[in-house]
Amino acid sequence: MADTSNVVGGGPKKVLYTLSTIGKMGVGKAAKALTAKNTCKACAYGMGGQHGGMTNELDEFPSVCNKSVQAQSTDIQPPIPEPIFEHTIAELSELSGREMERLGRLGTPLFRRAGSDKFEPLDWDAALDHAAHRLAETDPKRTFFYSSGRSSNEAGFLFQLLARAYGTNNVNNCSYYCHQATSEGLATTIGKGTATVELEDLTGADLIFVIGANPSSNHPRFIHMLKNCRERGGQVIVINPAKEPGLVKFAVPKSPLSMLKGGSDIASDYLQPRIGSDIALFKGLAKAVLEQGTEDRAFIAAYGADFDAFRNDIDTLGWDEITAACGLSREEISRVAEAYGRSRHAVFAWGMGMTHHVHGVANVEAIANLALLRGMIGKRFAGLLPLRGHSNVQGIGTIGVKPVLARDVLKRMEEVFGVSFPEEKGLDTMACLKRAEAGNIDAAVIMGGNLWAATPDTAFSSRAMGAIGFKLFLTTTLNQGHVHGLGDGEVLILPVTARDEEWEPTTQESMFNFVRLSDGGIDRISTVRPESWILGQIGKRVLPDSPVDFDAFSGHAKLRDAIAAIVPGMEELADIDVAKREFHIRNRVLHVPEFGTMDGKAHFVVTPIPALEKGKLMLASVRSEGQFNSIIYEETDSYRGKAGRYSIFLSMADMAARGLTEGQRVKVRSAVGEMEGIATSFDLPAGSVLAYYPEANVLIGTEVDPRSKTPAFKSVPVDVAAA
Ligand code: SF4
Repeated sequence: MADTSNVVGGGPKKVLYTLSTIGKMGVGKAAKALTAKNTCKACAYGMGGQHGGMTNELDEFPSVCNKSVQAQSTDIQPPIPEPIFEHTIAELSELSGREMERLGRLGTPLFRRAGSDKFEPLDWDAALDHAAHRLAETDPKRTFFYSSGRSSNEAGFLFQLLARAYGTNNVNNCSYYCHQATSEGLATTIGKGTATVELEDLTGADLIFVIGANPSSNHPRFIHMLKNCRERGGQVIVINPAKEPGLVKFAVPKSPLSMLKGGSDIASDYLQPRIGSDIALFKGLAKAVLEQGTEDRAFIAAYGADFDAFRNDIDTLGWDEITAACGLSREEISRVAEAYGRSRHAVFAWGMGMTHHVHGVANVEAIANLALLRGMIGKRFAGLLPLRGHSNVQGIGTIGVKPVLARDVLKRMEEVFGVSFPEEKGLDTMACLKRAEAGNIDAAVIMGGNLWAATPDTAFSSRAMGAIGFKLFLTTTLNQGHVHGLGDGEVLILPVTARDEEWEPTTQESMFNFVRLSDGGIDRISTVRPESWILGQIGKRVLPDSPVDFDAFSGHAKLRDAIAAIVPGMEELADIDVAKREFHIRNRVLHVPEFGTMDGKAHFVVTPIPALEKGKLMLASVRSEGQFNSIIYEETDSYRGKAGRYSIFLSMADMAARGLTEGQRVKVRSAVGEMEGIATSFDLPAGSVLAYYPEANVLIGTEVDPRSKTPAFKSVPVDVAAA
C-alpha cells in the first residue's frame, strides 16, 4: 500500500524541500523573485502583488509556499544552451516533462521548417515577419487562438482583440479543461460565474466544505484557513473519494505550534463517495437537511425560485437509490447534514473533482442547491468558492479570452476600437481540436500552457495538433507540447518574459475576484519579449490598416484603459498602476442576497443522478504534490507514499478481487486506450481508481460535458488486470 500512515501534509520535510529548492535557485535570486511585488505565478488562491511578495490581501506574511517556490525555480533558470538545438526533435521528444522544463528558459525564437526534424534559432525580426506572413495568408475562419491562465490581463485582452480583429472568435483558454462547468453551473443558479466570497470570509466561517479538491498539494495556503477554522471550533468537512493524507493532518509552516505538534487536524469529517457519484451524495445531504428541518425557509421564500420542483424531486428520491449510487450510508450522510444544520456560516469550496465529468455542470448546480437550502449565499463568512488553478485563469476569462462575448461587451469593444468584429459563435477548445483533426484548421496561436499534454486521448491530441499547418507558440520554457504532435507543418516558438520580468506592470485576478498589480521589471534574459509586445508587433504586421493601434499596446496603461471601459466591474483597473490600489471586481462577492439572474432570484435546479457504467471501475486522473497542471517538478509524490508517476491507485478490495499484489505491473484499459502501471493500494472506495495526469490522458476520451464542453478527466470507465 502507498504508505501514508505517517504522512502529514506540509511540515519540516516540506520546509526543508522548499529551502533546498531555494538553495538551488541561489538565495539572493530566490529572495528577489519571491519578495518582489508580483502576483504568485502558481495557483489562483492569490498572493503577492502590491501588498508585497509572500503577502496576501489580508496582509498576512509570510505566505510563501512550496508551489510558488517551484514555479520560481523554473523561471530563474539560465537560457537553454544553443547546442541543445543541434539535437533532432525526435531526440528531444524522448525527454520527460520534467527534463524538458529543466533544459532552462527559452532564450531565442525557434523555427521548425515544414517536414524538418530540427529547430533553428531565428532573430526576432525574421520570426515576427514570418508569423505575420503565415497568419495573413491564412483564412481566419480556419484558425484558433488558445491561452493558458498564466498570461496577464493585458496580454490576454490583446490576444483576443487580435484574434477578433483578424477575423475569428475561435478564442479560448484552459478553463474548458478545468472550471468551465463552474461558470455554467453558477450562471443557472445564482446568475454569477465566480466565487461569491472574498478571502476574509474564510476567517469567519464555522464550516468549510472541501469537495473534490486536494488543496494540501494544489492550493497550499488554503490549508492555513482550514486549520484556523478548526482551531476556532469550526468544522472542515472533506468530500473526496481518496483519503488524502494532507487533508487529514497538515503541519502548517507558518504556525510554529502546528509544526511542533507534528501537524494540525484538518478534516473534522471525511466522506468518500464513489468517483462520479457526487450528485447522489448532494441530494442525500439535501434530503437529510429537509428531514431534519434545518432548511432556511425565510431565505428560500424571499430569495429562492423553483424550490417546489427541487423539493419534490428530493422527496421522491429514496435513500436506497442514494446510498447505492454513492456507496455511503444514510447515517454517514445524516451526520454531515446535522453538522451543516448547526452551521451559521458555511463556505463550499470545490475543485476539478467536481468539474471534470460529463455531468460537471450538474455537480456545481447540486452544490449551489445545497448552499441555497440553508441560505448560505449572500451573506458575510458564507458562500461558494471554486478553487481555481492557474494564477490568472479567472482573469483571462474576465477580460474576454473566450469564444462568446456578452453582447454588450462586444458592442462596447466595437465602439472603443471602431471595428466590426465577427458575430458568429467561436469554438471551445475541444471543438477547435476536433476541427483540426478533420483537417480544417490551418494555423493556431497558442500562448503558454501545454495544449498537447493537457488534451485527453493522447493519440487524438497528436493527430489534431499535428494536422495544423502552422503553429505559433509563446512560452517561457520548452515543454513536451513543443516537441510532440508537431506533424509536418511549420512551428514557430517565441520566448516570452516571466511575470516578474515584464517591461511594464501587469495585472492578475485571483479566485476571490481580487485584482493584483505585478511590478515586473526584473531583468534576467535580455533576448525574451513580453507577450503584449509580441502580439502588438504581429498585429501591426498582419493588420496594417486596422483602426486598432496594435503598436501602442506595448504600453499596458492603454490596454488597461480599454479593459476598464469595456469589461463590467473592471473600472478601477484604469488607474491601478498610479493609485497602486488593488481591488475586488464589482458585483462579484455576494454579502447580500442580490443574485445576477434575470429575475434576481436564486434558482434551485433539479439534477438527475447520472447512471454509472456497470461492471467497470471508475478512474479519476489526479495531480501529485510535486506537480502544477502538466508541469512535473518531482517524479514521486511525497503525500502519497512516494508513489511514482505510473502508479495505479486501487482500493484493497479491488486489488484482492483481481488477485493483484502491491507493486505488481497492471494494465489499465479504457474505451480509447491502455496504459501500464504499478498497482498501488490506497484508501479509496471500492470501484474507484486513480492515476496521474497527464500520463493517464491516454485513457481519457474526448467526450465532453455538453454544457461546459469539459472532458471527463475524472470519470473514465476502465478495467484493470495484471499486465
Ligand atoms: S497558495 Fe497558491 S497563490 Fe498562495 S503562495 Fe501557494 S501557489 Fe502561490
